[in-house]
Amino acid sequence: MPAIGFIGLGNMGTPMAANLVKSGEHVLGFDLVPALREASARDGVQIVASARSAVEDADVVITMLPAGEHVLSVWNDIVPRARQGTLFIDCSTIDVASARKAHALAAARGIATLDAPVSGGVGGAKAATLTFMVGGTEHAFARGKPILERMGKRIVHCGEAGNGQVAKICNNMILAASMIAVGEAFVMGEKLGLSHQALFDVASASSGQCWALTSYCPVPGPVPTSPANNDYKPGFAAALMLKDLKLAREAAKSVKVKNAIGAHAAEIYEEFAQAGHSGMDFSGIINFIRAPRE
Ligand code: NAD
Repeated sequence: MPAIGFIGLGNMGTPMAANLVKSGEHVLGFDLVPALREASARDGVQIVASARSAVEDADVVITMLPAGEHVLSVWNDIVPRARQGTLFIDCSTIDVASARKAHALAAARGIATLDAPVSGGVGGAKAATLTFMVGGTEHAFARGKPILERMGKRIVHCGEAGNGQVAKICNNMILAASMIAVGEAFVMGEKLGLSHQALFDVASASSGQCWALTSYCPVPGPVPTSPANNDYKPGFAAALMLKDLKLAREAAKSVKVKNAIGAHAAEIYEEFAQAGHSGMDFSGIINFIRAPRE
């Protein structure tokens, strides 16, 4: 039976691999952490002894790892073990340069590849409702799409190798900047005597409308499902937002484009993380904005 190799069974990889099993796939999984291997085995993943063993009998290999250095190191190790015709899909969020290097190292051996970072977080991974932003050839995309559909509900082909990562960091840079702007507006409004609900009612139906306001409102009340109503538990942790903003800053520098707002958002989230809030939902930045400064 054709198998899918899955390397990196962390917060995201565990539920993604479980959804592949639920959809009837034979999944060969590996992670460095024994407890994670045991958890995935309980989900029906066949645990193998190494990343290499997850690849040798696979038609498709998925990696879900922390950063570019991990992806390049694992791909350098496993690509030479892959059979001709295997498709490699990296779902990690990594820097664009490493994503393109990973594509190139596989292409040099005639292996098809996709970069397919996700949005939707652990909740989306569990519910199989992730959005995948995909870079790679039309042919590789056509092969990978039916697999990604088992773990997500929106699969967008963004163009050539690395473009999935480009789309991801562009989107999250918009999100961070808009969340900070929405937080500043609510704090300014409240200090000037405007209620949260009144500002929400006006801005959500006016030109200030954006996802950070209408779907993820950073004050409790107007959007009952937002993390503000749950003590700012993530959701999407500030540490991950900071990671994506640093990737965006690096990418902007690499193509010499102005990145004033994105870079400033990175600084603000860095201060927030250094103040001990990296595990908080990123919308908790509003409390940092509100806190008195010396
Ligand atoms: P995680 O740290 O929980 O999982 C990564 C896993 O990779 C770990 O279990 C680690 O042991 C494993 N790993 C590292 N090196 C390895 C190696 N050489 N061989 C085998 N396994 C190895 O991270 P996560 O939250 O699952 O995120 C994974 C990726 O998805 C990251 O790039 C992250 O930025 C991105 N992402 C995460 C979220 C989220 O909400 N958690 C949302 C969107 C995107």
